[in-house]
Amino acid sequence: MPYRAPVEEFSFLLNNVVGFDEVSATSMFEAASPDVTQAVLVEAGKLCDEVLAPLQRIGDMHPARLENGVVRTPPGFDVAWKAIAQGGWVGMAADPEFGGMALPMAVTSAVNEMMSGACLSLQIAPLMAQGQIEALQHHASDEIKALYLPKLTAGEWTATMNLTEPQAGSDVGALSSKAQPNGDGTYAVTGQKIYISWGDHDVADNICHLVLARLPDAPAGTKGISLFLVPKFIPNADGTLGAQNTVKVVSLEHKLGLHGSPTAVMQYDAATGWLIGEKEGGMAAMFTMMNNARLGVGGQGTGVAEAAYQHALSYARERKQGKSAIVEHADVRRMLGTMKADIYAARAIGLTCAVAIDMAHATGSADWQARAALLTPIAKAFGSDTGIAVADAGIQVHGGMGFVEETGAAQFSRDVRVTAIYEGTNGIQAMDLVARKMADNGEAAHRLLDEIEACAEHAKTTLPELAEAVWQASESLRESTEWLVSERDMNARFAGATCYLRAFARVLGGYLHLKAALAAPGGPREALARLYIRRLLPEHIALLAQAQIGADDLYGLTLEELAA
Ligand SMILES: Cc1cc2nc3c(=O)[nH]c(=O)nc-3n(C[C@H](O)[C@H](O)[C@H](O)COP(=O)(O)OP(=O)(O)OC[C@H]3O[C@@H](n4cnc5c(N)ncnc54)[C@H](O)[C@@H]3O)c2cc1C
Repeated sequence: MPYRAPVEEFSFLLNNVVGFDEVSATSMFEAASPDVTQAVLVEAGKLCDEVLAPLQRIGDMHPARLENGVVRTPPGFDVAWKAIAQGGWVGMAADPEFGGMALPMAVTSAVNEMMSGACLSLQIAPLMAQGQIEALQHHASDEIKALYLPKLTAGEWTATMNLTEPQAGSDVGALSSKAQPNGDGTYAVTGQKIYISWGDHDVADNICHLVLARLPDAPAGTKGISLFLVPKFIPNADGTLGAQNTVKVVSLEHKLGLHGSPTAVMQYDAATGWLIGEKEGGMAAMFTMMNNARLGVGGQGTGVAEAAYQHALSYARERKQGKSAIVEHADVRRMLGTMKADIYAARAIGLTCAVAIDMAHATGSADWQARAALLTPIAKAFGSDTGIAVADAGIQVHGGMGFVEETGAAQFSRDVRVTAIYEGTNGIQAMDLVARKMADNGEAAHRLLDEIEACAEHAKTTLPELAEAVWQASESLRESTEWLVSERDMNARFAGATCYLRAFARVLGGYLHLKAALAAPGGPREALARLYIRRLLPEHIALLAQAQIGADDLYGLTLEELAA
């Protein structure tokens, strides 16, 4: 069954659940009225259904390949990239001064999720460009902005982010790439970066690499890192392409999935680069791109989940076993209902995070900034975990045909698996949540829990059973949050971090389902909320119990005993 972008679902969420009306009421985003937003979603949906979705299987069967030093992308990717670029989808959120549409992040996130469901391998390319555009807007000099942003925004050039090195993965501070001043304001960047998404390709004229490297005498660790813009071709002042830079692709990775996306080992040999942001302020500048990408990766998970769900549902309606199609069997209903309810929760959490980012931009309010910071790791990890779980359930719904590649069910699972790994593994996201994001003593979390409980109070007369369950879950999360912030042993917090993050997502999911049921009572939204709140929300109890155990039992076995 062909993928259909869930345009109406996004409209419902934006108009009824995630508070998007507050965003379009700000002067910064007043152009994003409901009509305009709907028109944008419909156009994006068409692009996804008609242009991107047909490439999803092609990308898997014709992987990106390296030929004589040049990367060839799967057939059709070049045409689709041009359609994305010419439709303005790369520069959706970018500054109009450079050709962008200045759309709110909530709308950008919706479009990105739909593109991910249609063809994840290709969607990584615009996602990288959007992040780089935001980083350059915030941290680059006016000359760099004027030269690069119009090209990136128009999709004439593409973008990459280069953090990872063989010895420096999660521990970015261990990186050893170097940058030497050339004496003319540029730098010579040298080093090897691995796993670079869309590090090279044949769909656009130039590739702009943002590279983390260390200046001479810089301190060790993350404090000593600076950020450089290293183009594949060095542009002339008028934007035409000049000499080829000394950066090359060493090889492409052979991956579990995501075969259409070229994941490259890149070698920089005294390549000419320009400093972005402050010397030794590279991590702060790169974090602008990374935060953007983290929310985007959560949306990738949800997008693939949507595609896998549509695929599984269609199969379950046709496949007969016993007297009926398998969709009539309770266990298959359990799988499909869980998939649908979790997709809704993950999508609504991602959009809630995007709304917080928009409100922080539009108002400058510290509370909205704290809300966005709190929700980013949850949106990233829960969105990607949901992608993995739903794609896995999709295989199960297909039975043996799920394990056979030609149905396509397995590809969703292979493709989406990486979303829990890149952009900071989900373990790192959870640690970020319980450490940095709780540095305010849990204040941002408590403010959110207050809102959840106010909503539950309001729902008590009309939906008493659902409201009570959400209120109780919120109180349990509050108690756990109090325990967490009072725990001074960081390793004890870290031992429970993944469970705490998932419990937080479960509770948020309950709240956002309740809001949907309140907005559309008595129909399928309420039925889905009931399914989620009765069957999935209770998971938070076991998760919160685990979150507070501490680390001792994890180290109860010695390394020798683990190996025995
Ligand atoms: C397809 C693909 C595309 C990618 N694209 C890019 C890209 O465009 N640019 C880029 O720079 N990188 C990219 N990456 C790299 C990716 O971001 C890293 O793989 C990721 O950050 C994890 O680093 P690592 O692989 O070295 O794993 P490691 O850091 O070795 O982690 C291994 C395991 O240990 C855990 N771990 C590590 N440190 C800690 C800690 N302190 N506390 C608790 N647990 C810890 C991790 O959570 C993980 O489970 C890509 C990777 C893949 C597979």
